Amino acid sequence: MRGRGRFLEWTLQDTQQTGLRYVGKCGICSAFCIDTDSDDEARKWCLEHVGATGHVFFEVTASLYLDAVLADHPAGDGTPPT
Ligand SMILES: [Zn+2]
Repeated sequence: MRGRGRFLEWTLQDTQQTGLRYVGKCGICSAFCIDTDSDDEARKWCLEHVGATGHVFFEVTASLYLDAVLADHPAGDGTPPT
């Protein structure tokens, strides 16, 4: 995906190459697990939290971390020109 802003062409890249990351969060006490690359692990944390607390409302979110870099930048490092 590309976009233009201030006459520069930007592109989004998954430069950390982490892929989707999942987090399970309790809707009662807001406790959450460490992010993981597996939705099963996030769900497992939710089930463990039920057993420990009795809390029964959860949210599992997926996030993709992206960096915006300049497309076709002469320096080739993706940083904005100064
Ligand atoms: Zn809770």
